[in-house]
Amino acid sequence: MDNSINTIINEVMKMAHNKVETSILELSYILASILFIVGLKRLSHPEKARSGNILAAVGMVLAIVLTIFFHKMDGTGIKNIPLIIAALAIGTVLGWVSARKVKMTAMPQMVSIFNGMGGACAALISLMEFPHIKPELIRMTGMANGHTLAILLGLVIGGVSFAGSMIAFGKLDEKIKDVKSPLLKYFNLVMLAVIIAGVVYIMTLSSMPEMYIVYILVALALLYGVFFVLPIGGADMPVVISLLNSFTGVAAACGGFLYGNQAMLTGGILVGSSGTILTILMCKAMNRSLLNVIVGAFGGSSAAGGANDGDKTVKEISLSDAAVLLSYSQKVFIVPGYGLAVAQAQHTCHELDVLLESKGVELKYAIHPVAGRMPGHMNVLLAEADVPYTKLVEMEDANSEMSNTDVVIVIGANDVVNPAAEDDPSSPIYGMPIIKALDAKNVIVIKRSMAKGYAAIENNLFYHPKNRMLFGDAKAALQQLIAEIKSM
Ligand code: NDP
Repeated sequence: MDNSINTIINEVMKMAHNKVETSILELSYILASILFIVGLKRLSHPEKARSGNILAAVGMVLAIVLTIFFHKMDGTGIKNIPLIIAALAIGTVLGWVSARKVKMTAMPQMVSIFNGMGGACAALISLMEFPHIKPELIRMTGMANGHTLAILLGLVIGGVSFAGSMIAFGKLDEKIKDVKSPLLKYFNLVMLAVIIAGVVYIMTLSSMPEMYIVYILVALALLYGVFFVLPIGGADMPVVISLLNSFTGVAAACGGFLYGNQAMLTGGILVGSSGTILTILMCKAMNRSLLNVIVGAFGGSSAAGGANDGDKTVKEISLSDAAVLLSYSQKVFIVPGYGLAVAQAQHTCHELDVLLESKGVELKYAIHPVAGRMPGHMNVLLAEADVPYTKLVEMEDANSEMSNTDVVIVIGANDVVNPAAEDDPSSPIYGMPIIKALDAKNVIVIKRSMAKGYAAIENNLFYHPKNRMLFGDAKAALQQLIAEIKSM
């Protein structure tokens, strides 16, 4: 009698204990989700971005640690905790060291790799969970249930995101060249149709299929990821990069749905939806259609466009002329580009801006949405140099002010001011809006040579009578210019 009472009391205590643990876990997921949302909100402002990042990271750590210790499935906790902690430690060290070591200019490549890892995780989770779909669920619904769909979507979208991000990494690192072929568009369309058909086929089965079918599906997803990013080049990479980000978010959200894990679901949805919004905004900013991105059929040939037609002369400007022109201007726009990041000239650039303002010049920065090598690259770069956010003007607004601007200084930018985007239909950047530097009274371009930009095309702005080149590394040229202005 005593024994059975004790057993009942023990059982009740155990249930109560489990209930408390589950409640703590659920509360931690809600807290983590709130931290993700607040963190994301703070990321939208350069001054608050650092704290936003920390808040989101705290949310992630909270969700991971409490999951490891409190998650229960059918009454049993997580197994292999030492292995999980070892994997976490290795990942943390690798992530920490590479993030500290990475050069500012290699940041976009790193973002691509990290994004690809997220996609790979989601695909691996799906691959592992597929054989464990509960037989009683399959008996009730066949394969047509939300669980199977979440697994298949995580598998396919995660696979595409992983393979696509690796190719994007290779391209940003200039190790992989664009592969252009008119056939690729049709090949990609067919592959996309086959993948969708594969998912639908599995969902219509009444019993668990052989695993090789799932392996074929993931192989197709990886191939598609490779082939849809391979032809993308020139001005179209930014759109693809943000699309791949959103894919990873959606794939992670599928994992969250699968495990009923609210923190993973919220994190995935936030990344997926913000990535999708950014993709749509990028498409609009670049005058591209989303369907074209998905089948990897962007732009023209990279060999075409902005051809060097006939005799063209390049005018140079001396430091003293540039100093006089700038000092006596009323209004100046700086157009920063990838070269500013390469030269790490953001602080020097801010110094010039403060100096000119002290001379009564009105100075602002014209920010092109795809300047640099990752979305928001210029905003981050200039925020690092404490350039007030209010001085950054978006492209359309800057363009509307160009006609009453005395000088535009283009620093390490090329494609984003290339008039071929407006007047050469054969150009790979045709249709992309540009910063209309030529609408200003004078243009000064600071770069090291006549070399091309990311889209690998000639820029006729450099030969325009209004433009004068100040050749040199952006940082060195700006330092000399500052010294010249100070000596006036
Ligand atoms: P570009 O790549 O068009 O041009 C950069 C220019 O900077 C080069 O022509 C180079 O000329 C110059 N440069 C390089 N190093 C230095 C230096 N140390 N000092 C001075 N100048 C330097 O850059 P933009 O920002 O104009 O355009 C961005 C391009 O990148 C677009 O085509 C965009 O589509 C693409 N892209 C953007 C992504 C994004 O998310 N923002 C992602 C992927 C691609 P030189 O060698 O003569 O100095």
